[in-house]
Amino acid sequence: MQIDPFEFARRRDRRQGEIVAAEMGRVAALGWQALEGTFDVQGGGSDNGPSWIDVRVAARLRTICQRCLADLDVEVKADAHLELAASEAAVNAAEDDDIERIDGSRPLEVAALIEDELILALPMVGRHEVCEATVVPDRPQGPLSKALGAWTSKRLAD
Ligand SMILES: [Zn+2]
Repeated sequence: MQIDPFEFARRRDRRQGEIVAAEMGRVAALGWQALEGTFDVQGGGSDNGPSWIDVRVAARLRTICQRCLADLDVEVKADAHLELAASEAAVNAAEDDDIERIDGSRPLEVAALIEDELILALPMVGRHEVCEATVVPDRPQGPLSKALGAWTSKRLAD
């Protein structure tokens, strides 16, 4: 879904919805799968001042833990206030302050906006804080497992 950023801001337009994993190709390329999530994109502006787009995302994503190779799910939240600049050059020429700016002169893909914020919110390293035991425990040697073992051997022999 494309929007005209300045028009979106002027009309204080709003888009809300569910994150579609299939639209998160760059997230996938980083090794993360978006399991579920929601977004809320809201335009706004002051009368003689800047226009902006606020982007809120909350999502659950999955990757493979780099240490134990088991699934790792993380929840990320992002809340960005993006001021609209008149051009790409204006974004680059802006003062080095804490304001995030985007080029508002070109149509913007809402999914790309959401994906940008998701990527910024992802952990640097996909790894459990504490991994579950990665060693497969020794086979229990109770009567049931002996019976199962015998059954399996018989099946394999057949
Ligand atoms: Zn792990």
